[in-house]
Amino acid sequence: MEVNVSKFGTLTLFTGCMASGKSALLLNRVAYLRTLGRSVAVSMHASSHRDRLHAFSRAGQQEYALRFKDPSDLLRFTRNGEILAIDEIQDLEMDFAPVLAQLFDRGFPLVAAGRDTDFRGIVFPIMDWLRARATEHTILTAVCTTCFGPATRSQRLVRGEPAHWDSSIREQGPPLETYEPRCVEHHVVPR
Ligand SMILES: [Zn+2]
Repeated sequence: MEVNVSKFGTLTLFTGCMASGKSALLLNRVAYLRTLGRSVAVSMHASSHRDRLHAFSRAGQQEYALRFKDPSDLLRFTRNGEILAIDEIQDLEMDFAPVLAQLFDRGFPLVAAGRDTDFRGIVFPIMDWLRARATEHTILTAVCTTCFGPATRSQRLVRGEPAHWDSSIREQGPPLETYEPRCVEHHVVPR
């Protein structure tokens, strides 16, 4: 299908803490775009979920994700006019912003999902940048594992104990490091 590139790009953004269903919404949107005949490339940064090949949701959907390391890789993915879907987009550093802006300016549609805040509850810089540019932004919550209230934070646990404020911002992953959705009241970061 010939791609009808609009004057300005669109950025559909799904954000929330872990287990908030953002990857499910991303994959739903991808499936819908494909029913319209659009070609969509699902991708993740090389550092995201190193233990898996797929973008996945806890609801069961999954799809093989193209991996990228450098901003220039994204230009390669969109060369044939594909819509670019990026899961776990919080794993991008700010050096990706110029290429994302370039795609937007060239009229490309982008669909992205990511955690808005790190394990301390601080907004990832790239998420702040994306939120300011989103043409559609869905903010999701999960269920706090302690009180079952609305969770907006991702609690990092190391050997079952809350991780210290000074630990690495980037995820180390299982088995020692695990995450739980928590409300602000039950989000614990010793410092
Ligand atoms: Zn709670």
